[in-house]
Amino acid sequence: MEINESKISMMVDDITRKVKMELKYGQAISGGPMGGGSTGIYKTIDECIRHAGIAQKKLIELSFEKRAELIGSMRTMILRNADPLAKLAVEETRLGRYPDKIKKNILAAKKAPGCEDLITEARTGDDGLVLYEYGPYGVIGSVTPTTNPTSTITSNSLGMIAAGNSVVFNPHPRAKKVSLETIKLLNRAIISAGGPKNLICSVEEPDIKTSQELMNHPGIRLLVVTGGEGVVKYGLTRGKKCIAAGPGNPPVFIDDTADISKAAKNTVDGASFDNNILCIAEKEVFVFRTVADRLITEMKKHGAYEIKGQQIKQAVELLFKDSSGEHPLVDTQWVGQDAGKILRNIGITNAFDSRLVIAEVEHDHPFVLGEMLMPVLAIVRVDSLDEALEWGLRAEHGFRHTACMHSENVVNMTKVGRMIETSIFVKNAPSYAGLGMGGEGFCSLTIAGPTGEGVTRSRHFARVRRCTLKDSLRIV
Ligand code: NAD
Repeated sequence: MEINESKISMMVDDITRKVKMELKYGQAISGGPMGGGSTGIYKTIDECIRHAGIAQKKLIELSFEKRAELIGSMRTMILRNADPLAKLAVEETRLGRYPDKIKKNILAAKKAPGCEDLITEARTGDDGLVLYEYGPYGVIGSVTPTTNPTSTITSNSLGMIAAGNSVVFNPHPRAKKVSLETIKLLNRAIISAGGPKNLICSVEEPDIKTSQELMNHPGIRLLVVTGGEGVVKYGLTRGKKCIAAGPGNPPVFIDDTADISKAAKNTVDGASFDNNILCIAEKEVFVFRTVADRLITEMKKHGAYEIKGQQIKQAVELLFKDSSGEHPLVDTQWVGQDAGKILRNIGITNAFDSRLVIAEVEHDHPFVLGEMLMPVLAIVRVDSLDEALEWGLRAEHGFRHTACMHSENVVNMTKVGRMIETSIFVKNAPSYAGLGMGGEGFCSLTIAGPTGEGVTRSRHFARVRRCTLKDSLRIV
């Protein structure tokens, strides 16, 4: 193996990060025997739902304080294993960037809401008292993606169990190993904190058939579906409540009042994070013509590589199965791959360290319209905010998912925010600030645009129940 300076530096970074994590959260616990059905992994969906049902009944017998302890233990377990889970995710799915996946695991473990999100509301009046309390659904069926396998299972599990439910996951088959490992670890954390086994279950061999079986099963009271358009459509037509988190194609708007150097860095950071496989990541930029050259120059300083003319044509050939129409179809073998690898395959061999490919194109180019999920970012020059909005709305396809803006003009920011109507609107920061990474707010990797919950939280996984008491229990 050839060892150069950059490889040695990566190895040192890797070891330093591991040592820091272990000092902070203790020794990693991954592995070790866990028998007696306590892994949560079963052969059939029926078995999963039966065991998860028993576990849920045991959970709601525990005190609220105990439930919060289980949540704390789950958080610690994922923090301890953020690094090995990230490594396994990259090895298995071959998508994304290992250091970024560690950050996503830490983010989900630390910032996904727990029991504190379930705030009882009390109203009093001449007729007495009414309480609005959050109660569980029972067993939730949750279908998870290949792009954020561990962090989605983590954030969903935290919120769902905090709300008193158990959950049966159907992970993406291409992320099976790492998803099952995450489930085992979370169950281990729950059991070690005195909670019931099987609060989190999955089948050994998840696939589309088991996903559909799970969604159609009468034992499932709530569906939480995170993935592309196919699974969202399927989930929404099951005749039961479904929280659906679907695709996005987030536009970035940059006007002539923006701090261009900062906008460039933020956009490169967001669009290259985990090789752009996050649904919230910047996918195309609409920039005022007067500042476009400066933006491109600054983006290159921050690790972007610009392709032009024939190189763009070659990239389209390489990266798309079908580049026509409003929803161009990418070749999935390129999803989540490194920018350097993509560049090498269109004949650019001196840009191995580039984090992001940028290309100036027209507003209806496949790089603009397609949800590419790879570090390739379209840049479109515009003459006005209205033009940017017209094309940005078209590129967003009405998903109402995420949009970003870089500007110092409050009127422009308000106009874009109102018109684009996305669940997440990030101003003057990388897109991941909208998930609470370097931005305020809690985190979830399930962002439900189609059904309107937006960034999901514990209370979304609970039923609101009303308790009315006539004429008494008031002190005023
Ligand atoms: P995918 O749709 O291929 O798979 C997601 C899950 O759905 C998998 O578990 C898969 O087995 C299952 N599935 C797929 N088609 C199905 C069908 N017809 N019936 C039943 N189950 C089915 O998605 P992916 O490639 O894993 O993830 C990428 C997509 O997910 C992108 O479009 C991305 O934007 C979206 N995504 C959205 C969010 C969000 O929070 N909104 C988060 C992550 C990913």
